[in-house]
Amino acid sequence: MFDKILIANRGEIALRVIRACREMGIGSVAVHSTADADAMHVRMADESVCIGPPSGAQSYLSVPAIISACEITGAQAIHPGYGFLSENANFVQIVEDHQLTFIGPSAEHIRVMGDKITAKDTMRKLGVPCVPGSDGGVPDLETARDVAKKIGYPVIIKATAGGGGRGMKVAKTAAELEIAFRTARSESKAAFGNDEVYMEKYLTTPRHIEVQIFGDGKGRAVHLGERDCSLQRRHQKVLEEAPGPSITPEQRARIGKVCADAVAAIGYSGAGTIEFLYENDEFYFIEMNTRLQVEHPVTEAVFGVDLVREQIRVAAGLPMEFNQDTLRLTGHAIEVRINAEKLPNFAPSPGTISQYHAPGGLGVRMDSALYDGYRIPPYYDSLIGKLIVHGRDRPEALARLERALGELIVDGVDTTIPLFNALLREEAVQTGGYNIHWLEHWLETNLG
Ligand code: ADP
Repeated sequence: MFDKILIANRGEIALRVIRACREMGIGSVAVHSTADADAMHVRMADESVCIGPPSGAQSYLSVPAIISACEITGAQAIHPGYGFLSENANFVQIVEDHQLTFIGPSAEHIRVMGDKITAKDTMRKLGVPCVPGSDGGVPDLETARDVAKKIGYPVIIKATAGGGGRGMKVAKTAAELEIAFRTARSESKAAFGNDEVYMEKYLTTPRHIEVQIFGDGKGRAVHLGERDCSLQRRHQKVLEEAPGPSITPEQRARIGKVCADAVAAIGYSGAGTIEFLYENDEFYFIEMNTRLQVEHPVTEAVFGVDLVREQIRVAAGLPMEFNQDTLRLTGHAIEVRINAEKLPNFAPSPGTISQYHAPGGLGVRMDSALYDGYRIPPYYDSLIGKLIVHGRDRPEALARLERALGELIVDGVDTTIPLFNALLREEAVQTGGYNIHWLEHWLETNLG
């Protein structure tokens, strides 16, 4: 086992990893930018190293600075969290070239899944159902027209290098295709430096269902059920829950096995998520994330496992502590993402936290790096906390969420807390009867 792990991240996820390290008796090293000198992850880690100025590009994304921090502190392994360098295959290669361990899958697996066309192709060959669409990239408008004719409108044009919901455009009719095709290409060029796009049938009423998988890197893999992340704004998740309200135990076992078998076949190591759109009882693969996800705590709650601990164990060459037969799903968990944002436009709202009080009690988990007097820097993501509740069933989890939101105090900045209070009063949220477009319509009607 490692003596010391460096966490190449900040905020709540850096704290999350430090917590796992401490319980395992492993030393932790925080890295931070000058803007984060007072951050909670720096206080909580055993050691810390300043790796650069505020800009993420010059600090949390600076590979030389992070490798040097390992050398200075003697950390043997790097946990990337999510975002930043977590899905950067070149970084993983450099880490390994320095005889350090990357806590995550191999550079090769990250590369394959990072290119969405290759990822889809790989998954299709492994028996995972995919959204009907183009075979590979769509180089020109003429090809786009042919594909659309074959799969039928509406269609969605997506960036091969895509992420974070960028570079995606929908064409409802043939008349809209040209503009959608050109904008998707120019957007993806601007965001990812790569203008390759592909096409899919645009599903009009799907839910977003993702399967948590975990592999030991030696050909064994398990699934930990699904999460439903259908409440989205601009293709970004807002609330996540496990299990999915629309998924039966039989469907869970079936799609879970397809996913676990697929990643076992490629010798995948560590945590990963296979994302699907789900419509009319069918699953359609859209992408795989080769890292821990923001919403992993809902899965931890219903399965009673520590996914970060497992990631560290497997990276150190130890076996997984669970297998498919010992994993038992209990109750229902919901996570809401608390962002420092001002409604109705969700404009970032950095500033000083005058008062912070985390909710508590049975079945409540608050993952956050906030504290009284903390200054939220304007340079990074606006996520400031995740509130996760676990109940015996969905109604209990919903009641607990409402109660916990009532206890949560974040004063001094605007947050998305009022959004969740309002959403909990909605019939669709109470019954779980929404698809990926529901929240956008709701926001237009209620906040627009
Ligand atoms: P990203 O990597 O940018 O997050 P994804 O492929 O994971 O892109 O898609 C993100 C979201 O975009 C999905 O959760 C869904 O809301 C929407 N989306 C993607 N593909 C389709 C599709 N074929 N039909 C309908 N919606 C889609």
